[in-house]
Amino acid sequence: MPHVTRFAPSPNGPLHLGHAYSAIIAHDLAGADGTFLLRIEDIDGERSRPELAAEFRADLAWLGLQWQEVPRQSGRLASYRAAAERLRADGLLYPCTCTRAQIAAAAGTIGPEGPVYPGTCRTGVTDPSAPAAWRLDMAAALRRTGPLTWHDGLAGMQQARPDLLGDVVLVRKDAATPASYHLAATLDDAADGVTLVTRGLDLFVATHVHRLLQALLGLPVPQWHHHGLLAETDGRKLAKRRGSPALSDRRLAGEDGRALGADLRAGRFPTGLSLVQSVGCYP
Ligand code: GLU
Ligand code: ZN
Repeated sequence: MPHVTRFAPSPNGPLHLGHAYSAIIAHDLAGADGTFLLRIEDIDGERSRPELAAEFRADLAWLGLQWQEVPRQSGRLASYRAAAERLRADGLLYPCTCTRAQIAAAAGTIGPEGPVYPGTCRTGVTDPSAPAAWRLDMAAALRRTGPLTWHDGLAGMQQARPDLLGDVVLVRKDAATPASYHLAATLDDAADGVTLVTRGLDLFVATHVHRLLQALLGLPVPQWHHHGLLAETDGRKLAKRRGSPALSDRRLAGEDGRALGADLRAGRFPTGLSLVQSVGCYP
């Protein structure tokens, strides 16, 4: 079965080798008869730099990839609002006016992505006029769906554990951004007909939440493939200042992008870089 896959970069900064690796995996897993999509994830209005989208396209072409581009997230806000409205009508969202500092001070348990929101506002907010984010009532959502599973091409069948992340934010405080990454990406993958979601292991845990949102919103369930992350051999993230130039710098310096792509496919990484195959305890 040919797959529909996607590469979904956020235009917050230039693409680096890790992105190239990710894009190549998504492209190749679509196969010759499949479809490889590019989606610009510019939901983060404050950090988004629209001019980077053109640079991203030039980088992908330089790597020798071909793709179809689907609408960027800033053109899809109405669908995010509609989904949030539906979850709200189902009684599954509640407003939260907590500041970061309040959350940090109140946090009880530490989840895979840091402190888990302790549910302070679940029974009501203290200041109804303060700007509110909308959180998913995780316990209520799980009562609605029951246990869920999902499949990762590398890690195999998974029990969905969205409870590990607690009452995640689905609608941000910032009125210009009517969805969090979790809600936007889940809706977009369904709207784009993505059948195989490929991305780095750093988003493995997010998939638990996405699987739950699919069940709550009646969306089709794709398969997943969370790949290893390119990092410095000592485990540190890639950084430009430590000799990991942006793809655009390599391209403009005249480096051969197709040859770089062939190296990444073959697992030949530049000196000092290696693939991290697990992140924390996942998987
Ligand atoms: N936009 C996300 C990023 O650049 C990727 C999201 C995804 O692949 O689901 O990290
Ligand atoms: Zn709160």
